[in-house]
Amino acid sequence: MIAPGSTIGILGGGQLGRMLAIAAARLGYRCHIYAPPGEPGDGTPAADVAAASTEAAWDDTAALDAFAAAIDVCTFEFENVPLATVARVAARVPVRPGARALEVAQDRLIEKRFALEHGGRPAPHRAVDSVADLDAALAALGTPAILKTRRFGYDGKGQARIDRPKDAATAWAEIGEQPAILEGFVAFEAEFSILLARGANGASVVYEAPQNEHRGGILHRSVVPAGALVAAQAVEAAALTRRIGDALEYVGLLAVEFFACADGPVFNEMAPRVHNSGHWTIEGAVFCQFENHIRAVCGLPPGSAESRGAASMTNLIGEEVTRWRAIASTPGEHLHLYGKQSARAGRKMGHVTRCRNQVAGRVQA
Ligand code: AMP
Repeated sequence: MIAPGSTIGILGGGQLGRMLAIAAARLGYRCHIYAPPGEPGDGTPAADVAAASTEAAWDDTAALDAFAAAIDVCTFEFENVPLATVARVAARVPVRPGARALEVAQDRLIEKRFALEHGGRPAPHRAVDSVADLDAALAALGTPAILKTRRFGYDGKGQARIDRPKDAATAWAEIGEQPAILEGFVAFEAEFSILLARGANGASVVYEAPQNEHRGGILHRSVVPAGALVAAQAVEAAALTRRIGDALEYVGLLAVEFFACADGPVFNEMAPRVHNSGHWTIEGAVFCQFENHIRAVCGLPPGSAESRGAASMTNLIGEEVTRWRAIASTPGEHLHLYGKQSARAGRKMGHVTRCRNQVAGRVQA
């Protein structure tokens, strides 16, 4: 067990690291953030609330060794941390969850095969390494379909929707001619996620499944309780998520996103980290996803994932953050701002959570 007072290293310096560091501080841990310099206006959301920080490149071995020497255990808040970076740190201190979870989640093809192996049902897909592959995949899967880079895709980036086979070459150019997969378009009724917190001894808890609404490939809103279809399919989805967690000997918070379809849940993707669709748990669950992640990383058992009532979380993206004054002036609306300086389009600036239980009668979740 990693005792309070110890230092947790966090690879990645965004809002997820910020909320992890806040949860860790409540338990008496110190956090040391390691992240490369961000883009202008990104700010340093995690380092601003942490005991220590290192700004250095992922391949700066001297900086990584100094970081590893200064911490007792390590985790990550960004799934595109290079495996070599994790291996370098793992040579000195435990990294939780491990490199295998990262390896699977970093590549959409490996991830889908992994889900299949464990009884999941991913969207129909084909590997694509050339325009010829793409033509063949379109012939097999039909249109519409979505071309996605195998690696480094998030928030709808690295994706191109293809509505007509003759648009193949344009889509291939649009994603930068990188190793990719073509996914058949899933006619889903709703989207949801399963958030599992798994401790080092295998004990785990699962949160109530939030129903998620995306806009332009970016999460807009997560709501609990979910609708009846999602609630019914969440049981099977949670069982799959537990099998994935067990297979990876996962330690920490694991998020798996699903499409709720007429004939059952379809696996979309997994994130080996705390997840945007779990932000509602800060106010809406007995133990939030961030605290449960920290507890797992430090060898403590997971706390209750039970919901306190109905909750909804809405992201504040880009200019939406200018609503902060109205939100902060509304009783029962929990404002979270990440400390980023400029509200660029698509940038996650903060979020607002409404809980129906907390100011009864005044706030609609
Ligand atoms: P992703 O980053 O792959 O999760 O994609 C972001 C969002 O795009 C998803 O949450 C869906 O709303 C939509 N999307 C992605 N893949 C598909 C698909 N195969 N069929 C329908 N919608 C999709």
